[in-house]
Parts: sequence; structure tokens; C-alpha cells
Amino acid sequence: MSIEMLMDRLLRSARNLLCGLRMRISSHMPLPPMRGGREHLGNKWVHFTFKALALAASVSTASAYSQDGEQITGASGNVFIRYGDILVPSEYPYDGRSVYSGTPWPSGQVFVEFHGSVSPELRLNVLQYLEAMSVASSLQIVESTTAANRILVQKVSGSGVCGSSSVGMVGGVQDLLLDCTGARTVRHEFGHAVGLRHEQTRPDRNAYIGVVDVNGTAENCPGTWQANFGTGGTSNTPYDFASIMHYSHSSSLPCGSTNLVVRLDALVAQPAGPPSGSGSECVTPVGCENLMGASTNYSLRDAYGLALRYGYRVTHSVVGRGGGNVSFSGAPSSCGTNCRIYGLGASVVVTAVPDADSMATIAGACTGRTSCTFTMDSNKTLSIRFTKRTAVHALVAYMASSDLIFTNGFE
Ligand SMILES: [Zn+2]
Repeated sequence: MSIEMLMDRLLRSARNLLCGLRMRISSHMPLPPMRGGREHLGNKWVHFTFKALALAASVSTASAYSQDGEQITGASGNVFIRYGDILVPSEYPYDGRSVYSGTPWPSGQVFVEFHGSVSPELRLNVLQYLEAMSVASSLQIVESTTAANRILVQKVSGSGVCGSSSVGMVGGVQDLLLDCTGARTVRHEFGHAVGLRHEQTRPDRNAYIGVVDVNGTAENCPGTWQANFGTGGTSNTPYDFASIMHYSHSSSLPCGSTNLVVRLDALVAQPAGPPSGSGSECVTPVGCENLMGASTNYSLRDAYGLALRYGYRVTHSVVGRGGGNVSFSGAPSSCGTNCRIYGLGASVVVTAVPDADSMATIAGACTGRTSCTFTMDSNKTLSIRFTKRTAVHALVAYMASSDLIFTNGFE
């Protein structure tokens, strides 16, 4: 072994030791918020000294805040009160977790406008990160500067929180602020925007986690406490330590002159339950504590929850030189041209009726001539081909329908 190799190995060992030490500390005791460490979300707050916004004078975005329940005016012109990383329109009285019902986006279409503060690179990253949402459900991100209901994505700096968003569709133009720009922040905040709440605020969470107000300052910041650690809403899926909406084991949030330090202790391992493939993400409470707040993508149960709420889409294309009509069973909602949305688990029959001079074949989600059936367990695509009948096709069809030859036999 050369000296260089030996030095390299020693350095790696030292680095691994330090990383392990750090992880061990962070999983058992709250650490002060840090700038530039591993990215967390609503629980990764910077200190008050970062409160001032470092925005270009020409860029108008929502103003910074660090206080619980502080009122801000977004670039949309709407006034919001922010609790934790949740934006609530000022006309809504805030009374804890249940204030906001989280209206779903109609037809699964989430209209998004990028503010001038968002760089071209960040815009591309956001769109790429959100493809995971489009794969997980019928949701589609549609860029628009004119849609009546749309999200105005803004880049802010020094806001005191990684990002913030309303829960669900507000109506009109709603602000979504990004200070951190990693995949976890983008997917977490857009998770709020389509209706996901914090996993640790589920009404059944006390069976899975213990919530400890470490320095006893929660009573000073009831809004922040409720938004981040109160309980409310409905649990549609089994508890999920792997959720991108779950805070990490240790959280520190601004609360007056001192921080609100909260520790989330896992009481059990990941519970079993749907969807298939989930339930084994962490098999011990300590493993679950390490998993909390670590996801950078929607977990299996996050995706399942999105599909429960928004269903899946079926898109089809019609090809070939023949003609005919395509129809689908049920009364699905439209998500655009040749695009339909069905609920998770729905059984769908597609029927292709060719014109008199044409024939049909169906391929993709199911295969058949003029009809076939499939189950909505993911987004589906179909290709329906109508081909022109040739003279041979016509002769065969004539013979097949002829009473003289087949029905009465060869008399
Ligand atoms: Zn959040």
C-alpha cells in the first residue's frame, strides 16, 4: 500500500467516524438550527439574525418573517398569516389544525406560475422534482400565468424557514415560497399545496410518536405549535415514518426570543398496511427515528394518499387510417384531450367501435379487439388503432356473416 493510499484510507476512516458521531448525537438530542447542514423542512429554521430578506430591490416577493402567526403579503397581493410553514389567508380565523380543509385541485391540474425571482435552473429543477407527483397520481403540473387558480412560486432568502405553502387549493393566486431549493423542500411544500398535511399532526399520531416540548415554550407560540405539532384532519393511510411530510426526530422553531425545541420519539416500528410494498421502511423505533424527516421523495404511502385523493389518469391515442369511436365505462372526470381520471382501484372498460370500413385493435393498459378491461392501480395509457378494411377483410367478413355458408351449412 502506498503512502497516498494509506493517507486516503485514514482520512476516510476519520470522516466516517465523525459522520457516525454526528448522526448519533442528532438522533438523541436536539441540535440548534444550522445553516447549510442536511436539509430539513419546517423544522430547519435559521436564527433571527437571518431574518432580513436579501432580495434584489426589483424583485417583489412575500416579505420575510420569523414570528409565529406573523402576517405577510405575498407577491400575489394576498395577505397570509404563516404558522410554521403553512400559509393561511388572513380572512380565515386560525383555530388550530382543522382551520383549513385543503380544497383539491379540480381535474388534477395544478396550475403553476414561476415568479421572476425563480431562476431558469430552479424552475427546471422544480418541474423535474414534481414529476414524481405526476407519476404517483393523476396530478399534472401545468405552467400558466393566466389560470384563475394557480400557485405563484417564489424564491426567497433568509425567510427563517425552508419554504411555506397553503394546504390545498386556496382559490385565486396563492403563494408558495422556497428558501431552500432541494428536492425535499420542493416536494414537501407542493405536498402541502395539493392538500397533504404534516404526518406528525395526524389525529392518530399519539399511538406512534411521543411529542416532547423540550424547553417548555410551546405555550408562548400556540399557532406554531398547532401548525407543526397539534393534531387534526383525517388519516387515510397507515402512519408513515417515511413520509416526506414528517418532521425529523429533533426540531427547532423560532418562538419569541427563544426557540421552540421539539423532540419526536418513535414509539413503535412502521405499522403494516397498504399499499403493498410499504410497512417495512423501519422495523425498530430507533430506525424510525432516523427515518423521520429524511425522505427526499414521496414515500409509498404519500403516493398512495395522493392516488386516494386524486385518482389516476387514463390517456389514449387513436392511430391508423381507419375510423371509429372510443368510449370508456363510468363517468370519469376529464383531465384534458383524451385524458380521464378514475379513482384508485376502479375497473375500467374501454370500447372501440370501428366504422363500417374499419377494424379496431386496443393495446396498452389492456389488449383486445373492440373491448377490454383494466384496473386503475397506476396511470394508464392506451393506443387504439383503426385500420381500413382491405378487399380480403371485407370478403372474410362477408363470409363470416353469411347465412348461406355458415349458418345453414354447405347445402
Ligand atoms: Zn410543512
